Formats: sequence, structure tokens, C-alpha cells
Amino acid sequence: STTRTPLMAGNWKMNLDWKQGLSLVEDLGDALKGLDTSAVEAAVLPPFVDLRTVQTAVDAGKLPISYGSQDVSEHESGAFTGEVSASMLTALGATYATIGHSERRQYHGETEQVTNAKVKAALGGGLTPILCVGEPLEERKAGTQVEYTLAQLEGGLEGVDAAQVGSLVVAYEPVWAIGTGEVATPDDAQEVCGAIRDWVRTAHGEAAADAVRVLYGGSVKSSNVAELMTKPDVDGALVGGASLKADEFAKIVRYQD
Ligand code: PEP
Repeated sequence: STTRTPLMAGNWKMNLDWKQGLSLVEDLGDALKGLDTSAVEAAVLPPFVDLRTVQTAVDAGKLPISYGSQDVSEHESGAFTGEVSASMLTALGATYATIGHSERRQYHGETEQVTNAKVKAALGGGLTPILCVGEPLEERKAGTQVEYTLAQLEGGLEGVDAAQVGSLVVAYEPVWAIGTGEVATPDDAQEVCGAIRDWVRTAHGEAAADAVRVLYGGSVKSSNVAELMTKPDVDGALVGGASLKADEFAKIVRYQD
């Protein structure tokens, strides 16, 4: 749709200490100077311990970069050792909270109940969830990628109302494409991203379907992003490895140039 601003979000994963993160965000700010943020939005998702530094650099340089976390607690506050709440992230100027990344699901046992609770906690704390969904290789081989991904979406969004669903970001990240160098074809990305939007339309109506931003993630690079972005239901990319180099990530953000 013409109303959705594309989003290119860089997931740093567990890379870059605060000094390295500072260099990257400053270099990225230079590379994105003059970016028309009404045409495309750039975001970084650093480790928690880098967020204060990123905030300071973005504010001081008025950099055209949004930022957010890679995870968020499902709880508001209290005796949850090691967790970070949505309101703590909001207080740092964060816009986004990544929720249900496949690495969280795989290594930290995040179920749909957990992603659902985190989506609600993020929304309640004033953050925009980036809810990650996507099938493993076996499901792709069986041809069940759409059903599998929609079940994750439905579980993650249970009890979330239409206006909130319209405000959020869904990232379709097929597990077999993450960190493998094996990008989905534009048609494969469109199949599932389109199914995600159709599900939102059926469950929450036209306005929510038109507003929700659906990203593709999995081995996105500057050399393949433009082709993916030609697809009508791909509104941007969630980028892992290629977001760790300022020039490369800036090229992804400027895919239209
Ligand atoms: C990711 O971790 O969200 C991701 C898409 O990684 P990569 O781009 O490295 O495949």
C-alpha cells in the first residue's frame, strides 16, 4: 500500500560491545545523512547494554535512525532477575521490541504463550512489537509454511485488538534462510507475507491489514533487497549479518536509490 513506510531493521544479535556499537551507529548516521525518512525508516536492534549509547549518539547527532531491543520481558517490573521491561526501553527512547525471534524460540523455549505475553507487555509499555514468525526447513519441505507461520502469528496476537495489530510489525523469517546465505525467492517471501496480511484482514479488518508492516528476514543483503521490495506485501527487511557493516546496511536502507 501507499500508506506504509518501509522499515529496514538491523538485528545485531549478540555482537558489538558498546564502543563497537557506537562506531557502527555513528558510521551509519554518516552513511544515511539526508535520508528521506518518509520514504524509508532505518532501525537498529542492538544488545541491551548498547542501547543507552545508541540513544546518546542518535540524539546528539539527530541521526535518522530508530532503535529497539532484541527481546523484552513479559512482566512489567519486579522480581524477574535478568529481565528488562518495556517501560525501561521506552525510557531510553526505544521504538521497537523484537519478539519471538527464531533464536529465542529455539534456544530459550519461547512458546506462543510467551510471545503473546511479550507482545502485550510491549504494547502496554509503549513499544512497537516486531513479532517474528517463520517455518523451519521441514515445514518448507512439506509445503506447510503458510499454515505453520499463521499459527505462530495467531498465537502471538491472541487478544490483541485490531488497532494494535495495525500498529505493529510482523517479520516473516523462514528459519532455513536465517544466517545461511540462502535467501527466500521474492515469490516465496510474497507468498507468506501476503498470507500474513490476508490473515490480518480476515481477523482484524481492512484498516489493520493495510497498516500492519510485514518484513521479510533471512540472508538479506544489498544485492537482493531491491528485488524482494518489489513484492506488494513485503514492507521492509529484518537484517542480521548484513546490518553489522555501516556501508552495507546503508545500501539496504537506500534500496530505492
Ligand atoms: C535475523 O537474525 O533476523 C536474520 C535475518 O539474520 P541474517 O540476515 O543474518 O540471515
